[in-house]
Amino acid sequence: MAVISTDAYFLGARSENSDSVNRAFGEILKHWFDWRSELFPDDAEVITNDERQSEKFCVEEERLHAALKTLCDMLLAETPTFTPRYLSHMVSEASLPAIFGHLAALLHNPNNTSREVSRVGARVEIEAITMLAEMIGFDPMIAQGHFTCGGTIANFEAVWRARYRVDHALALGLVAAEKSGGPFSAFESAHVGWEKFDQIRIHDAISEQEMRSASSVLCNPLEIAERLSKSSRRSYRGSVLITPGNKHFSWRKAANIFHLGEESLWNAPLDEQGRLDIKELETLIDKARHQDRPVIAVVSVAGTTEAGEIDPIDGVVCLLNEYRLKGIHIWHHVDAAYGGYFCSMLGGEQEEILDEARRSALKSVRLADSVTIDPHKLGYVPYACGAFLTRDASSYTASSFHAPYIDRAETGDKWQSTIEGSRTAAGASATWLTGRTMGFGPDRFGAFMASTINARRKFEETIASQCKNIAVLAPADTNILCFSVIKKGDSLSNSNMRTNHVFRLFQKDPSFSVSKTVFDSENYRRLIEAHANRHRMTLDDNQLSLIRCVFMNPFLPKNHVLESFLPKFIARLNLYAEQALELSI
Ligand SMILES: *Cc1c(COP(=O)(O)O)cnc(C)c1O
Repeated sequence: MAVISTDAYFLGARSENSDSVNRAFGEILKHWFDWRSELFPDDAEVITNDERQSEKFCVEEERLHAALKTLCDMLLAETPTFTPRYLSHMVSEASLPAIFGHLAALLHNPNNTSREVSRVGARVEIEAITMLAEMIGFDPMIAQGHFTCGGTIANFEAVWRARYRVDHALALGLVAAEKSGGPFSAFESAHVGWEKFDQIRIHDAISEQEMRSASSVLCNPLEIAERLSKSSRRSYRGSVLITPGNKHFSWRKAANIFHLGEESLWNAPLDEQGRLDIKELETLIDKARHQDRPVIAVVSVAGTTEAGEIDPIDGVVCLLNEYRLKGIHIWHHVDAAYGGYFCSMLGGEQEEILDEARRSALKSVRLADSVTIDPHKLGYVPYACGAFLTRDASSYTASSFHAPYIDRAETGDKWQSTIEGSRTAAGASATWLTGRTMGFGPDRFGAFMASTINARRKFEETIASQCKNIAVLAPADTNILCFSVIKKGDSLSNSNMRTNHVFRLFQKDPSFSVSKTVFDSENYRRLIEAHANRHRMTLDDNQLSLIRCVFMNPFLPKNHVLESFLPKFIARLNLYAEQALELSI
């Protein structure tokens, strides 16, 4: 089956599709103008012809246009993320459907906090969430979610719900134990699962009021902790959040904001490839159980921010299922802010570009309780646009809040269940139009995603054969490639100095843009050891500096574009590596 050509869906690095953009902008503006002029055709004009001819008007109008020109001129110096020369961060040019969708909604400016101010935007949001849910394999009929301003907030949305769930169950267990005087375990109580929760609640006739009076979220958490300690006959140390060592820094922010204390953010050590180690995860869950500390959630990552790696999500699902069979229900959140869109490859020939373990991991995203996806990364949607999804309605519910000025009779409003208040419909529209045109199926967006992974492969193969002083960090799972600079006989610290030097040379050079990352041994000890061993370096440093290239550019995978840019990049890299080899160390 023919796969998608993305040529019509991006402006092009030399504005090749400017006609198409002109046509679309004209269409959007025409609709916007007509909407106003035709809605109340008998109304008086609010700005008269005379007013528009006045000198005062003309002065202000000129001021507006002059300032706009200044802004546009300033923006000419903006980071050129659209070019195939840009390999730096997780951004490339936004797609045309995303820009058109964003702009069309922006001009109407709905506020998706409530249908009262978003008659259409709210509907577009639901449809766009359904498209994303389908893409990752959730049942679109029951999945829930909403758009956020990014992956950070989407991750917070998960913690908010998961913590609420733990708090609810813990409150029930505490009240039941206080009534019966029987044995109580915070860990066991927090993870009973909804079925058992309902049974206990009915069996022990526990009222809503009693539960509320035992909630750490609704009451004084220190007083509740004292009661928990008393009932469990040991000092209650609070709940923990388990993340892999390759996590995004938003999880530390979450710990901070949700008042968990950094001590409660437990890092599962990584394997030699920098992916979550399932055995280590199991050890941490058992440690939490042993210390009688509830686990708010276990987080796995699909597409790490540093290297685009995919954790063994299937392994996490399996492990948590084993616990579930023992009556221990633990929330699983997949942070797929970057890699969620790779799920679009599943089910088609395109998925074969991933190795089997990564495919299996992505196929398990659908079994998580909640998922973060950033359309403003691999969805090629303008900022700021993230998305938070849950498998079903029960995982979506958060503690509710009361806003007297918003009509409560209206069902389906999101304001109660979003961290953000006012929310744009622009990101939802951008995603909607992308789904309607490019489509999120395997031969559509899936083929596009596969082509970006293929671009990474081509660069990787060429570097391996033509750059003898570059050590690629292998294996790369997706479309990000990291490498370091080495010289025969180097120690790790020497290699790091050379890598840093090459990065500084690239920074001063406008011809190609790359980024740099540093792996620390606290999280990446096994990966660093493996990399050093493979390249016979003595381990005299506790970090590994890497040059990082993100292959998101939509044109780079095309043969003639690759043939034009790849040799230039290799020549530049070799030139800089040569200079770094001469560093006296
Ligand atoms: C980018 C990223 C985030 C944060 O997303 P923002 O949109 O920048 O807030 C979270 N997790 C991962 C894995 C990411 O790559």
